[in-house]
Amino acid sequence: MQCDVCGHSIERKPYRAIIEGAKMTVCEECAKLGSVSWEAPHVQRTVMKKVASPLRIPLKKSKPDLEPTQTLELIGNLSLRLRKAREKLGLSHEDLGRKIGERISVLRKIESGKMVPDNKLASKLEHELKIKLLVPLSEPKIKSVSLSTPREATLGDIAQIKRKKVEESEERKPS
Ligand SMILES: [Zn+2]
Repeated sequence: MQCDVCGHSIERKPYRAIIEGAKMTVCEECAKLGSVSWEAPHVQRTVMKKVASPLRIPLKKSKPDLEPTQTLELIGNLSLRLRKAREKLGLSHEDLGRKIGERISVLRKIESGKMVPDNKLASKLEHELKIKLLVPLSEPKIKSVSLSTPREATLGDIAQIKRKKVEESEERKPS
């Protein structure tokens, strides 16, 4: 089991988190980056499926055995975000370079926008600075964001919603 964000192997139990609108299986550290996280994927998946039945997003897709490098791309404004995050943590280029095993000159270039880190390096930076630099290529943001936190739904609610959806699809007019 590998973390979708940093690529490290997950030693303890995997976390599921919604990060930048995408569902990912992540390690404990990276789970903090997400807006929503939970520890019991099967329960949550059932609930979400029911609430979000019209969209039919293939949920399994977010748990690939692929390398993170194949499904992620860098977000814009990377250099700025990087510098802000680093300064917030009070790290110098030297500190950061030492932590992630990267040359200081490389970090400087990235922060000044002269260079783009590869995904591996970006992952390390993400993990070390607790920020998000990579977003999934596959899933469009809007859809999964609207899915991620529908609202607090009880089991009764869900049953109702489901029933309502069925009615609606049978005859499409408000009574
Ligand atoms: Zn991680």
